Amino acid sequence: NRHVVIAGAGLAGVQVADTLRAEGFPGRITLVSAESVQPYERPPLSKGFLDPANDVAHVVPLRPAAFYPENEVELLLGVRVVGIDRERQKVRLEAVAQGDAVPAATHEDAVPTATHEDAGRTDVDAGDVPSELSYTDLVLATGARNRPLPIKGGELDGVLELRELGHAQDLRRSLKDAGNVVVVGGGFIGLEFASAAALWGAHATVLEFAERPMARVLSPAMSEYFAGEHARRGVRLQLGEAAAEILAEDPSASPTTIAGTTDRRRVKGVRGSSGQVYPADLVLIAAGVVPNEELAVEAGLATANGISVDATLQTSDPHIWAIGDCVSFPSRHTGTILRLESEQNATDQGRYLGKRLLGRTDEEYSDLPWFWTHQGDLKLYIAGVTLPGDETLIRGDLEAGRFSVFSFRSGILSAVESVSQPSDHVAARRTLGAGRGVTPGQVADPGFDFKAFSK
Ligand code: FAD
Repeated sequence: NRHVVIAGAGLAGVQVADTLRAEGFPGRITLVSAESVQPYERPPLSKGFLDPANDVAHVVPLRPAAFYPENEVELLLGVRVVGIDRERQKVRLEAVAQGDAVPAATHEDAVPTATHEDAGRTDVDAGDVPSELSYTDLVLATGARNRPLPIKGGELDGVLELRELGHAQDLRRSLKDAGNVVVVGGGFIGLEFASAAALWGAHATVLEFAERPMARVLSPAMSEYFAGEHARRGVRLQLGEAAAEILAEDPSASPTTIAGTTDRRRVKGVRGSSGQVYPADLVLIAAGVVPNEELAVEAGLATANGISVDATLQTSDPHIWAIGDCVSFPSRHTGTILRLESEQNATDQGRYLGKRLLGRTDEEYSDLPWFWTHQGDLKLYIAGVTLPGDETLIRGDLEAGRFSVFSFRSGILSAVESVSQPSDHVAARRTLGAGRGVTPGQVADPGFDFKAFSK
């Protein structure tokens, strides 16, 4: 009698439960979620949810509420796994204190699956939560949380973050009256948010300590293109500028609040490492994430920038597996250990693990990493992983905003970043996924038909 317990009901956790049932798993499945609302998609929180063109901000559920009871997936909402007893194969559970939970949706936010009437909702009182659960297989899908900035002023009213639904609700409310928005961090989420702020009519400034935006994940050529396009849309990018301090309004100043009444002091700006002060009535800290690996650390599992797993996504304990944002795994595509933060990675690892737990595959996990980001009307798709030192070639019409940047490592195609070139993206996923080599010479040849080659 197997019992799979899954810690975390994000993309990865829900996917593994789904695949297990779809593949005919007959045992018990319990999905434990520290968040108190039905599992939802995170990517729209920085896009459609914040778009002023949408009168009502819709939350996209990961599965319909009926999915959980229909598939006999026990969903514990508002419950945290707080400890693992590996010897006895048990996890310890605790109800999440009210104040820590994601607030319930307000009338302004349409959260169709998060009402009390929901079939799939398990309203949890501290008394209802079992204190322990036995497992035969434990899946850690605990995701990541925002990296706190070690600078003064992070506690001020008007300084916000974005990871969960409650954060997106606060941001949407705040954007309605925000005049000056400062975003700390020029990665995907920071730039997606800055684009949304500009659509609300705010003056958006992004402080990025690197010399180019999205430097960790993009080729220099693509970073440069995005920097130019954001500037044209009124988003100000301050590159090579770190946030040094978040400044508070003088308490005697008029107590205007844009995100509800609070007795905390309000933010008035951000001082950069250059000394320049950027006025702000709303600050988003988007300085990357850290993996939620504490459970694994305390249980004595191997960790290194996330929970360490082998190529079958198994941790250093043969009964414990880990998937998604919280995991560092050996990638066939780069030949290195990677920790990825993407919808593709969470979903594909969840799907693989469901099959693996049922013995449906003996192969190692080898799905191709791919990514996407929508920053206002700017849309970027990436197949493969660009690493520092990769050589690049541009194909297409950069001026017209229809082009791809091809990256090569040791003379072989490693990644393709595409703007308005969907056929390049599809061809790149096929080619890289199949492990077929493409050389710079081929890509530089105007007669080379990448789409035909990929088939
Ligand atoms: P998560 O989604 O973080 O879920 C983990 C869950 O586990 C959380 O609910 C957490 O509360 C819970 N948890 C943690 N510890 C415990 C515990 N001990 N017990 C119980 N529960 C626990 N990716 C893209 O590819 N494209 C995009 O455009 C994109 N946009 C994004 C926009 C935003 C605003 C954010 C935040 C992310 C975006 N991502 C995007 C990234 C993508 O959403 C993540 O990579 C993905 O959600 C990771 O899924 P996960 O299941 O590993 O972790």
